[in-house]
Amino acid sequence: AASSSKQARDDDSKAPLPKGVVLDKDGKPCRTCTSVASWRALTKQAKAETPTSTNQTTTSKPDLAAAATPSSSEIPAECPPDVEQLGRSTWTLLHSMAATYPEKANTEHQDNMRGFLKFFSKLYPCWVCADDFQTWMAHPSGRNQPRLESRKEFGWWMCEAHNEVNRKLGKKEFDCRFWEERWRTGWKD
Ligand code: FAD
Repeated sequence: AASSSKQARDDDSKAPLPKGVVLDKDGKPCRTCTSVASWRALTKQAKAETPTSTNQTTTSKPDLAAAATPSSSEIPAECPPDVEQLGRSTWTLLHSMAATYPEKANTEHQDNMRGFLKFFSKLYPCWVCADDFQTWMAHPSGRNQPRLESRKEFGWWMCEAHNEVNRKLGKKEFDCRFWEERWRTGWKD
């Protein structure tokens, strides 16, 4: 989950937030910055803090309890994404953009992609993810600037960017020599 240092609680009278819950800049829990498991712990805690809420009988929302009960890390279909589902979908988009990038990109193509990445890193819906991604790209040495001259360079750069997040989250790093098989050509038999 996103860094716990981004957690805070403005009201000291309440119990501390469950582990992994990240607040938005307005102080409210940020759904797209939090895993569904932490989100469930939060809603459970909120229910415990307001006992009358269990007496409410009317709701216009779908009856999710009636659906098959998912495990704590699964999101019911047709529900807003958590930080993990959003991340998986976004990496699919980003690596697919690298996979379909020209073998040799002209200046216009490079500029378009540079612009996309600049705005993407500001607008990504998990703000803590976006902040860290921007910081990584803007490393003072310039070593993490997007490399956009060719598909090979860009695909490798995207793989390194993804590995940076993998490391932060304690996930296994991906061997970037295989990015093209994973995202473009398919695995060799
Ligand atoms: P994912 O990491 O989503 O990977 C999907 C698939 O991509 C993998 O199954 C694998 O086949 C392939 N893959 C893995 N690594 C690489 C690689 N290096 N190169 C090529 N292919 C690869 N989550 C947080 O909790 N905190 C954050 O701060 C955070 N920051 C993020 C920043 C960005 C820009 C993005 C797009 C996502 C961020 N996420 C963050 C989400 C996080 O990266 C994962 O997407 C999420 O945790 C789900 O992980 P996963 O294990 O399902 O696989």
